[in-house]
Amino acid sequence: MSALPQEALRRGWCPSTLKPMETGDGWLVRLHPPGAQLAPAQLRRIAALAVEHGNGLIEISARANLQIRGVTPDTHPKLVERLLAEHLVDEHEGDGPQRVTLVSPLAGQNPTDLIDAVALAAQIEQRARAIPGLPAKLAVVVDDGGAQVLDKFPCDIRLVGIAAGQAALCLGDCLWRGPIAEAGAAAAVEIALRRFTALRKAAPDRIRRLRDLSPESLANLSVLPETAAPTPRMPPRRAGLFALESAQHAALIGLPFGRCDAAVLDRLAAGTETSAAAIRLSPWRGLAFRNLGRAEAESLLSLADDLGLITSDDDPRLSVQACAGSPACLRAEAPTMTDAAALAETAAGLLAQDVTLHVSGCVKACAHPAAADLTLVGRAGRYDVVLNGTTRDKPIATLDLSALLTRLQPGQDIHARLKAARSTGSQG
Ligand code: SF4
Repeated sequence: MSALPQEALRRGWCPSTLKPMETGDGWLVRLHPPGAQLAPAQLRRIAALAVEHGNGLIEISARANLQIRGVTPDTHPKLVERLLAEHLVDEHEGDGPQRVTLVSPLAGQNPTDLIDAVALAAQIEQRARAIPGLPAKLAVVVDDGGAQVLDKFPCDIRLVGIAAGQAALCLGDCLWRGPIAEAGAAAAVEIALRRFTALRKAAPDRIRRLRDLSPESLANLSVLPETAAPTPRMPPRRAGLFALESAQHAALIGLPFGRCDAAVLDRLAAGTETSAAAIRLSPWRGLAFRNLGRAEAESLLSLADDLGLITSDDDPRLSVQACAGSPACLRAEAPTMTDAAALAETAAGLLAQDVTLHVSGCVKACAHPAAADLTLVGRAGRYDVVLNGTTRDKPIATLDLSALLTRLQPGQDIHARLKAARSTGSQG
């Protein structure tokens, strides 16, 4: 049996390597690779460990975290031992966040970068570790200001490049401050975090997240002057071939619904093992293989295509959230993964218009706790259909997959309601 005390299990959010989360298919173990980077051989080892100690399913979350599913109380100690001994994770003690920052998987090598997001993220991680009292759930997005826009990722603090060597700071995702020179940006984030922990210390039960503070409290977190929000940029490309600096290329590959078999990842990593590839995790639920020549990157994308992975930005699966579902999760009332693939294909036109689709095996909503334009909740093999709501909102109908696919066809009722809501900006 595991030496892990039962109370150490984290139910609901922020699992880590040492403190996994209970899910319907066993324990979910989250890995934070050192420097947020992996070599192909390291990814192969993680894939092997996922088979040996888990159920062989690997996920990448929307916060670019790597997760091994189906770990058991018996297998967890050995898995942790191997991950630590082989330096595959960077886990630290304490109740604070294991990883704070989120950056583009192409940051640092992208010719469009305005600030060095990788270096800033490393500085912020180091400074955050020295601040006692930070909540486990804390997100700082460091957006290099280039083509890989990160504005769709909710966070507590957002640091965005606004000109070469200059950044703006957004507190609570609503209050913009700046400009600030890149050299002082990590310190400005640290000041805001320290002021937040002081506020939190006074009322820990009431103040849980920085982003929940009132505008008045947020305003006290920084002495920088108020500034306008940066000019909106074009949405990023989330998969495909990218030309980076110094004639290097990257292949950005998505996992369908953020999940795949360890064997698939092993084949992908094996395809680059003889190269100088460096792998970064992508918040678009995939992997960026960097430091490749153009031919190597193209060949890897071709292999990924053959393996059923996402290699193109217009793949509709990129716009669908789906949980593990049955049979992986014991709580699931529907096979969400396979159904989501069929739904994505049928609803491709709607998804291309930014309609959001969430397919959940039960009301727990592990994949997407927020509202979506169309939320489907598993119920005894069928789905409760919720328009513009969460898994806990009132459904308008309960349908099987076949009926859903029919009613998502152009001219049918669900399609028409979603399309109308999208074109008028109203709710469905
Ligand atoms: S939402 Fe999905 S993964 Fe989470 S418990 Fe329900 S069925 Fe399982």
